[in-house]
Amino acid sequence: MPSHVDEQVKILFEALSKAAQREKDRVESLSKKANFSKKERKIQNAYVSRTISGAYDCVSKQVYTATSSSRPQLMSAEIHPILKSKLPLGGSLETGRAPEVCAGFKACNLALYARKDARLEDLIVATVMTTDMSHKTRCANCLETTDGATVITDNEYISGDDNGTL
Ligand SMILES: [Zn+2]
Repeated sequence: MPSHVDEQVKILFEALSKAAQREKDRVESLSKKANFSKKERKIQNAYVSRTISGAYDCVSKQVYTATSSSRPQLMSAEIHPILKSKLPLGGSLETGRAPEVCAGFKACNLALYARKDARLEDLIVATVMTTDMSHKTRCANCLETTDGATVITDNEYISGDDNGTL
């Protein structure tokens, strides 16, 4: 693997690490609030993110991070046309979870909107668990929607793989 790729991956993981810490701080400050009603707790839990993703744009050299969670919900009009075209035709492939709630999907969405002519092929994507930064393999939806990006946290990824985009 060329050394500039190592540098890109390093930048990506540094951004992820910072974003994960921000998310942990946010959740901790939320949990300090006492006297939640059952309904409030349910709403709060919907905002807590288990995973966090970063998309590194190899052209602009910018990292875009996003957290998973069903709220706030990504509206259809906010989904980039490239991702929209890749949404599974028969609906979500994961029971009880829409494709657009995934952190990876959201990070790619941000990166695609951030630069005109950005393509999934320009992106290096990593997804980790917020709590311990362990790698998170893509779900069935993300395998479809983010196909084309170089995803380095899938189990099948072997360091040094060259799919032509790096
Ligand atoms: Zn997913």
